[in-house]
Amino acid sequence: MPEGHTVHRLAGAFERAFGGQRVRTSSPQGRFGEATQLDGTVLLGAEAVGKHLLLPFAPSADVDRDAPVVRHVHIHLGLYGSWTFAGDPGFVDAHAIGAPRLRRGEQEEELDGAEVTDWRRIVPRPTVRLRIAGARGLADLTGPTACEILDGAGRQAVLDRLGPDPLRPDPAGRERRRFVEAVRRSRTSIGALLMNQRVVAGIGNIFRAELLFRARLDPLVPGRDLSPGMLEQMWEDLVALMTYGARTGRIVTTQPEHREIEARIIERSRGTRQNGDEDPDVVPREESFYVYHRQTLPCRLCGTTVRSADLSARTVFWCPRCQSRRSRRASWTREHPAAPWALAPGRADEAA
Ligand SMILES: [Zn+2]
Repeated sequence: MPEGHTVHRLAGAFERAFGGQRVRTSSPQGRFGEATQLDGTVLLGAEAVGKHLLLPFAPSADVDRDAPVVRHVHIHLGLYGSWTFAGDPGFVDAHAIGAPRLRRGEQEEELDGAEVTDWRRIVPRPTVRLRIAGARGLADLTGPTACEILDGAGRQAVLDRLGPDPLRPDPAGRERRRFVEAVRRSRTSIGALLMNQRVVAGIGNIFRAELLFRARLDPLVPGRDLSPGMLEQMWEDLVALMTYGARTGRIVTTQPEHREIEARIIERSRGTRQNGDEDPDVVPREESFYVYHRQTLPCRLCGTTVRSADLSARTVFWCPRCQSRRSRRASWTREHPAAPWALAPGRADEAA
């Protein structure tokens, strides 16, 4: 399932691809017949909240996004949803899309089987729930968990169900406080709370495991046992990690000096594809994580075998030594400088 940074990246791609344009909308699959109501209206832009994407449509481009006439298409990709883009050169470049399950090329052929060079002639797959077509290209949605039209109140109801999103602007620190308070009032384990979208919106399994490791925190510690200062640091760490992810499309949590250690070990990563894997300048996936999918391998810091277990219906990964309750307080400040996620100097994607 795409984590929040991917959905924010997707929203950015929609803004650039269609923002302010009059578009054609349809549901080739037929399961989103309401798409015809939006056909010929203007897609004002895109909004991401946690793992939810909201696309506001209006009769004309000068309508305010909060106006009652605006209708919002609410999309949650779930486990199987994906967007496929096609268009003129430079329409949406592959790195900007961010959806891990992005499928390119599939069925992008004309009825006679020839390769399509003009995106306008791409025949939609029969599974396309929603097609949005603009002046320079199109986007096809398949397999979402949710795809529905909401009015302003419906959009607000979606927002109200969600906790603070580390990628939404938060100049006054209000979102951070919401997170700290939600965790501290619960006796549930921090490992379970981080997967609860009402506590924090947009975290998935990778961010959960890596954030806990970077905080040297046992996943089973109850939320109410954590200090406000500790949780504020975790929030800031999450903001940094997810901002990097939204910018590059990748999750990288390791500090450069902890990556080489594992170069000789054959990684048993199980197909954790990320956008940009083919780019030689990015941190390879087998060096990107401390614990995620590294169970049975030695910890990058202490050599102890990384463990895994079920927690909140998803597997959590942790180092029993680095993330013991005793190690926590001592190690946070010492091994946790301001921006440990930053890439090594000279990496191509650091400059952006
Ligand atoms: Zn360790």
